Amino acid sequence: MKLLITGGAGFIGSNLVRMALSAGHQVLNVDALTYAGNLASLSDIESASNYQFAHVDITDAAAIDATVADYQPDAIMHLAAESHVDRSIDGPDQFIQTNVIGTFNLLQSSLKHYRSLEGDAKDRFRFLHVSTDEVYGSLGEEGLFSETTPYDPHSPYSASKASSDHLARAWQDTYGLPVIVTNCSNNYGPYQFPEKLIPVVILKCLRGEPIPVYGKGENIRDWLYVEDHCRALLTVIEKGTPGETYNIGGNNEQRNIDLVHLLCQLMDELAPRGESNEKETDSPLATSHSQLITFVTDRPGHDLRYAIDASKIKDELGWEPSEDFESGFRKTVQWYLDNQSWWQDILSGEYKLERLGQN
Ligand code: NAD
Repeated sequence: MKLLITGGAGFIGSNLVRMALSAGHQVLNVDALTYAGNLASLSDIESASNYQFAHVDITDAAAIDATVADYQPDAIMHLAAESHVDRSIDGPDQFIQTNVIGTFNLLQSSLKHYRSLEGDAKDRFRFLHVSTDEVYGSLGEEGLFSETTPYDPHSPYSASKASSDHLARAWQDTYGLPVIVTNCSNNYGPYQFPEKLIPVVILKCLRGEPIPVYGKGENIRDWLYVEDHCRALLTVIEKGTPGETYNIGGNNEQRNIDLVHLLCQLMDELAPRGESNEKETDSPLATSHSQLITFVTDRPGHDLRYAIDASKIKDELGWEPSEDFESGFRKTVQWYLDNQSWWQDILSGEYKLERLGQN
């Protein structure tokens, strides 16, 4: 397929572009290269004959129109977004611009393109809108989000994503654009910008700096390995039914504090604290990265628990996650240890591993 992927220089997008190319698809990566977009994440595939990059901002309606019309995609996979909840608390404007207006622009351009197609090309065309489980709000101790859970977003980020989900579905219902929406849980894995929990913990461990845990660390998230997610997205684009929503989860619920302890244990094993960091004591704790854990003021409006029922995508499309709790996190820690130049280049820019979004 000729795929147009927005946000392909971001965390999930770069993993998706790589997987789509190796599956034999042709890819045009459309990305504005914001602080979160990094072409270094694609350096291994940038000269592949089936890959092109377009430096386009989806808030620019004319530019996105021209890009879609020129490329004539078989399918559009829309991932470009402002994606960090803490940043949405400090500066919601850009979240409305990109996530709401940008999605609207892309839907309009896609519809124009769809209406110009005929026959098989028209039957095959898909618009995949990639969204989050955060649109469903917060769960108590029991229960799971399903595709029919009512929307109840709480942060500017999740509210902007919820808006864009509604727009995408409305373009299917009103104009007949073949739209599929996916809502997934927290992703982790290679190439994640070091402002998100898992890279923050790994990099704080490496620097011997306090590891900030919000509140008491009791918030629960489901964790999905990014390559499992990308495989799900390619499955949906190939086999999914227009008009449907698919929830994608990792069957991997963790309390934040337990996850941070697991990452510290993996760091103890894979990158033990240096002799110079050790205190003069016999306690094994003295050299454990867990010592660095520091509880900080909670995030405003912090949802307690997200958990996904991913049985629909399993039953209807045959997808399920392949990484489990231990294997995915181990791979991820090892990746950050093996690819220090990738994140050091980011940390030498404007972003300094500082906390955002305290209201
Ligand atoms: P990311 O922040 O790492 O990457 C976003 C990409 O979009 C960047 O390359 C950025 O340059 C690009 N972008 C931002 N604004 C743009 C604009 N106006 N025009 C064009 N490009 C623009 O995000 P991610 O973590 O890879 O998330 C990708 C998608 O998946 C998002 O839609 C996000 O809401 C969704 N999602 C992410 C997670 C997660 O855990 N990371 C979970 C659920 C859903």
